[in-house]
Amino acid sequence: MAEIELRGVAKKFGDLWAVKPMDLVIHDGEFVALLGPSGCGKTTTLRMISGLEAVTEGRIFINGKDVTWLSASQRDIAFVFQFFALYPQMTVRQNIAFPLESQGMKRSEINLRVEEVVRLLEIGHLLKRKPAALSGGDKQRVALARALVRKPSCFLMDEPLGALDAEFREVMRAEIKRLHLAQHATTVYVTHDQVEAMAMGDRIVVMSAAEIQQIGTPAQVYHDPANLFVANFIGSPGMNLVPGKYADGLVHLQGGSTYPVPPAWRLPLAIRLPGNDVIVGFRPEAAQVSGTGAIQGTIYASDLHGSYSMLHVSLNGEARGNGNGGDKIIHIRARRDVHHAMGSTVRFDLDPAMVRFFDPETGKAVSREVRG
Ligand code: ATP
Repeated sequence: MAEIELRGVAKKFGDLWAVKPMDLVIHDGEFVALLGPSGCGKTTTLRMISGLEAVTEGRIFINGKDVTWLSASQRDIAFVFQFFALYPQMTVRQNIAFPLESQGMKRSEINLRVEEVVRLLEIGHLLKRKPAALSGGDKQRVALARALVRKPSCFLMDEPLGALDAEFREVMRAEIKRLHLAQHATTVYVTHDQVEAMAMGDRIVVMSAAEIQQIGTPAQVYHDPANLFVANFIGSPGMNLVPGKYADGLVHLQGGSTYPVPPAWRLPLAIRLPGNDVIVGFRPEAAQVSGTGAIQGTIYASDLHGSYSMLHVSLNGEARGNGNGGDKIIHIRARRDVHHAMGSTVRFDLDPAMVRFFDPETGKAVSREVRG
């Protein structure tokens, strides 16, 4: 079991900050997903925790012990990469037993450990095969078995499912989660796939441009994004973000509609946004289509999903672009059995509990808290 703490940890390659100074505590037994777009510094962060990459600044603690300058092998950590490097000349059993043999463990103890992980991962039928005779999913199971067999105090996983096809990803995702629940080893899991992070993480660390944008549970980053980046990055599609001007309890939205601000938000908006410019954020499911809705738009397109329709709505009523050319296209969820013709008008209200506000100047979410 292990608690990992990063204090002001940073990495510079030449002039480039791959990771700007970050503070992060990963609790004992926790599953934390490092999530962000390509190049944001996830892998570098993981490699610094593992000891494969030296820090430029800061200190790393495992169980309160400063491991900043300890080598990878002295940190009691198992690393699982996307590209599962199994030894091709060894059988599956030999691959799994190898880390224990190289520690000089007794044969009887090795056999017990191997049997245990083989049972857990249900790979008993593969033990005599060589890696070349395994499917991608089975190779990854064996790689996991080899990591698990050492019973490390924590796992660092870098896109371990990246090379698998969609169906296997789902299976292995469930498998890794199940293993985590069975073993409760502290796990840090790097992914650029927000669905994976949301499904697996106890908490998610959202990164962008070498910095942590938010640390929170899947529900927190989804419902209460700390800033516009997280609002847009989490969810597919991301949160609708509509610019407007706040005055006297109303937001005059781009496109001409007026949104009555829920009473609980009026004071925070008045205090936090003296310039009156605001961005109103809401998820597609926060919209409720109704003939008397306060916000009006024009149907730009609609997609049928299993149990609902996703309406693409132009708030400017011009329905001519993808939202980049000044025409704001938003997404709202609607009943699938009501047809909305392209170009027709749609009106909707927003569930007040699901509306968020952002300061366009800083990009940060406006806090509901008015004290302090
Ligand atoms: P990806 O999902 O594409 O792996 P990432 O979020 O894991 O991205 P990193 O691999 O940590 O990002 O890279 C962060 C930045 O540091 C990138 O700009 C990358 O090009 C740069 N970088 C990473 N490793 C090195 C290196 N050894 N030398 C120089 N620059 C590097």
